[in-house]
Amino acid sequence: MKRLAIVVGHNSVKQGAVRKDTGETEFVWNSDLAKMIEEEAQDYPELEIKTFFRLPGLGYTREIRRVYEETDRWGANATVELHFNSSASRNATGTETLTSGTPASMALAIAVNQEMVAALGLKDRGVKTRSASDRGGASLMSGRAPAALIEPFFGSSEEGLKATDSSQEKRALAEAIVRGVASSMGAMPRTDAQMIESRTLRRTKSQRQKIMGAIASAAATVGLSGDATALEAIGLAEQISAALPYLKWIAPIALIGILYALRIDADAIEEARWDDHENGLR
Ligand SMILES: [Zn+2]
Repeated sequence: MKRLAIVVGHNSVKQGAVRKDTGETEFVWNSDLAKMIEEEAQDYPELEIKTFFRLPGLGYTREIRRVYEETDRWGANATVELHFNSSASRNATGTETLTSGTPASMALAIAVNQEMVAALGLKDRGVKTRSASDRGGASLMSGRAPAALIEPFFGSSEEGLKATDSSQEKRALAEAIVRGVASSMGAMPRTDAQMIESRTLRRTKSQRQKIMGAIASAAATVGLSGDATALEAIGLAEQISAALPYLKWIAPIALIGILYALRIDADAIEEARWDDHENGLR
């Protein structure tokens, strides 16, 4: 039996972005999505699911820390935090998932992202690595279990709204999330010790993991998405990252440089967007 903790993004006071069609906030829409996820998970007897809420009034860092302490106490094997995206640009659209960059978080994020893209048919914006200081990073780093944070669509995009405005579409999204989690659960750490080790690794090797994450997400987004499985992308990232200390050749360094350059633009835009996301709409 594996335990999946669903964390509803934002809180009852600061509810996050708003759907332009129904006026529902991230908090309201995702509280309902969490219920659907629990229902869909009944088809997966090996999965146990519980929903957790962030409490208002603590300040951002304590709010995040408290809810992930709760998922730790429950014994979560993986956590998924629910959001949706928003942008001042009405053209911004698509599905993306944030990861801490650890192999298990990456496997979880890639699997869930692929299933969501298949279910909603929106543009695949890929899997994006966040470190602790980045926006959204605390949600990926605070708990012991491998974590992902999903942004299935833009509530500011007509296309995003159209893909998610019926209850069948919402249920298909819930089902996709459960399917992605179930398919990646084999890659999740089994024991507490393994989870603690992965968190320690996260602290001491965050630079290496950031590079590895950039490579894996670039590979997953650019080359491997579609037919390759999450685990293949992880395998590739691990191989490359294992070779990193010994890189003396220009070609691989150039490759990493190119992959990084591809990410830098996206990340700069991303940071600005997260500022909007957490601060703008409440
Ligand atoms: Zn949000």
